[in-house]
Amino acid sequence: MFKGHRIVYKRPKRRFTRTPRPLHACDDCGKPTRLPFSPNKGLPVYCKACFARRAARRHTDRTAA
Ligand SMILES: [Zn+2]
Repeated sequence: MFKGHRIVYKRPKRRFTRTPRPLHACDDCGKPTRLPFSPNKGLPVYCKACFARRAARRHTDRTAA
């Protein structure tokens, strides 16, 4: 028996009526990635993995220097 109630969220059925976010090729690995923001022109775009990797590297570089 379950204790308490399971909260059931009603998920609205989304139809692709809205225009989907455009895919941008990751500047590092080239994988198409969806951004939650519109990228600035001229700035490199990274996917989540590459962004995290670069952020981590930058962090270590900073601590090393
Ligand atoms: Zn990438």
